[in-house]
Amino acid sequence: MRDDTIFALASGAGVAAVAVMRLSGPACDSVLRTLCADLPPPRVAVLRRLRFADTMLDQALVLWFPGPASYTGEDSAELHLHGGRAVIQAVADALTRLGLRPAEPGEFTRRAFLNGRLDLVEAEAVHDLVSAETEAQRRQALRQLEGELGALYRGWADSLRGVLAQQEALIDFPDEDLPPEVEAALLDTMRSVRADVAAHLADDHRGEKLREGLFFAITGPPNVGKSSLINALAGRDVAIVSPTPGTTRDILEARVVLGGVPVTLVDTAGLRDTIDAIEAEGVRRARARAAAADRVIVVVEAGTAAPPLAEPAILVANKSDLGAAGPAGGLRVSALTGEGLDLLRDRLALEARRLTETSGPPPLTRARHRAALQMALERLTDAEAAPLPELRGEDLRLALRALGRITGQVGVEDILDTLFRQFCIGK
Ligand code: GDP
Repeated sequence: MRDDTIFALASGAGVAAVAVMRLSGPACDSVLRTLCADLPPPRVAVLRRLRFADTMLDQALVLWFPGPASYTGEDSAELHLHGGRAVIQAVADALTRLGLRPAEPGEFTRRAFLNGRLDLVEAEAVHDLVSAETEAQRRQALRQLEGELGALYRGWADSLRGVLAQQEALIDFPDEDLPPEVEAALLDTMRSVRADVAAHLADDHRGEKLREGLFFAITGPPNVGKSSLINALAGRDVAIVSPTPGTTRDILEARVVLGGVPVTLVDTAGLRDTIDAIEAEGVRRARARAAAADRVIVVVEAGTAAPPLAEPAILVANKSDLGAAGPAGGLRVSALTGEGLDLLRDRLALEARRLTETSGPPPLTRARHRAALQMALERLTDAEAAPLPELRGEDLRLALRALGRITGQVGVEDILDTLFRQFCIGK
């Protein structure tokens, strides 16, 4: 248990009807007695006058959560204050004078992890849930917070621990031959965990893409209406629209939500060879962006020939209002009149969902998990091929260690700072 008591505003900054001040640590009990004159009953909201040093600070709704049945696992409290700046400041001053210190980013969740209230994967889910901008992100984070992902990883670790225990028995009693059917069963378990890990990794980064958002590049010759199209899709002016060919030099981006997935539309510079140095740089960057994009939207002018498409690009024929037909397979739209934009939006939403939807077990959501699983996979492959039980045991231990680092069961001190620093204060 940490011996200092922390506080932070858990609600957003700025004036609001209510501000929630969160407290955690051993001094909560005495602080509440000081501010409220008595200790409120546990886990019940009560209205109290908060007083400090003969001054009334506020009338507040007070919640007392004695540990260990609290979010952090420690004695905690919430003060639901009137949300004005002066009220928040006065209460923060009083808490500081009572010996509490302001919490660091993510410190409440970090304490919850250290006190065993959450595993690391669930702690990350708290961050993802608070950051979720779209419906699909919210569902994914909630699923992870419910512990499904951690349970999947722990299940694999449990199976491997069973194998390791039997393996060690074999090392301890070398004279006793392991019956061949036991040996075969151990190998079977290892193979099946390895296959599950490999399948989990071979997910086209769906969970990570949903968490981070997709990139759709918009490419095509100059002046076909790429910038106009991105503006129409984003519903605001994000790109410079100009009638002079090749004037969209910088890469312009707009973040939109398509099919519950955040998608950054990247409006690239006109992809033509040019002798102008600045424009050439724009073209180079555009090509790199397009190459890294999850989908490429190729825009042409209606009535012109379609360029050769690298599947699965989406062909859009803009300026349909000018009346020209074709090209075949092109989605006819007009950024000017709005014709066909709903169909285009539906098509893009379908693509966004296809790229991020998963079925079955919860998906991998972070590069940190991917790296550890990759390591576990390598060690398991080695373990199967190991010529000696001792070597196999060592490989299994390393695989277990990699899995344990994901949920935070082993050796994660080195990553905690980096991880919780991404959180906001009060979380
Ligand atoms: P970009 O170079 O591909 O980004 O093209 P812009 O978006 O800058 O548009 C080039 C020109 O085409 C501008 O004058 C736009 O007003 C015009 N334009 C864009 N979309 C349409 C459209 O759907 N119909 C018509 N008639 N003109 C358009």
